[in-house]
Amino acid sequence: MATAEARLLLGAPIASEIRDSVRHDIEIFVARHGFAPSLGIVLVGRDAPSAVYLRQILRACEAAGIGGRLVEIEGDDADGSAVEPRVTAAIRELNDDPEVAGIIVQMPLPPTVRLRAVIDTIDPAKDIDGIHPLNAGLLRLGFEGFLPATAHAAIEILNRYQVQLAGREAVVVGRSNVVGMPAAFMLVRNDATVTVCHSKTRELAGHVARAEILVVAAGRPGLITGDMLRPGVVVVDVGINVVAGGLVGDVDFESARQVAAAITPVPGGVGPVTNAILLTHLVRAANAQASQRAPEENR
Ligand code: NAD
Repeated sequence: MATAEARLLLGAPIASEIRDSVRHDIEIFVARHGFAPSLGIVLVGRDAPSAVYLRQILRACEAAGIGGRLVEIEGDDADGSAVEPRVTAAIRELNDDPEVAGIIVQMPLPPTVRLRAVIDTIDPAKDIDGIHPLNAGLLRLGFEGFLPATAHAAIEILNRYQVQLAGREAVVVGRSNVVGMPAAFMLVRNDATVTVCHSKTRELAGHVARAEILVVAAGRPGLITGDMLRPGVVVVDVGINVVAGGLVGDVDFESARQVAAAITPVPGGVGPVTNAILLTHLVRAANAQASQRAPEENR
């Protein structure tokens, strides 16, 4: 008997719906406050994949009526010691700019720049990618804060396609602070039973085989193959890997789609939703900052 192929969990329709509502929210914001909020982006060093990602974000901002402030910092001093102070100074300037509602710092940072120094400097109210320790802590405790956009996008796709999470076995492959761990915390909050696998996990296949929901964010093309999957699993492939044939995820798509009930393609799955979600975080930040300022403006 031929097996049915998995349903495709496409990101584009979700992203376009989100972007439409962001455009509408920004129109209301501009009418109310007389200026368009901006996204501040700090780019450290030159790194091709993140430049592509940045251009996409800036285009999405422009289309939604959001301003863009790109600060580019050379990442290649002789000893690198001058780079970190330049990065933190750039962030502070964006923190102090009332028109900048959200700030993202392009990762990875060069080795001479301490991640902790950077994340501590971002104003948590403008930390729309949820990397400041306050927002990470709020997520951990189950309070409202800014969620890391990629992890938020992975869960948003599951919710929008009405995938039941409560009570189900979820396996997350990857434990990074930006994707794996926040996705795991969000799945727990949605009442899934969650296993987190990582590079030191023994018998990855044994864990993956139990998953009814599988979120993969390892950055290893072909790490997960169809023969590892439980029939009927829902797969969210967060991985983005540049290979000779183009972009692929961490899941071997062709073999996985024969076994899974549903799967996100790469490209075209989590990526577009991540960018759109980031804009919703910016709108939320802009409105929160405007209402904080309002009492003073009205005096
Ligand atoms: P990372 O390198 O910080 O973390 C990778 C994680 O995978 C680590 O926790 C590591 O322990 C785990 N891992 C590595 N090899 C493994 C193995 N063989 N078995 C089990 N676990 C293994 O990466 P990240 O920033 O979390 O990103 C993960 C992937 O998601 C990358 O491909 C990245 O390009 C992609 N990404 C996509 C988006 C998007 O919008 N779709 C956004 C950010 C990152």
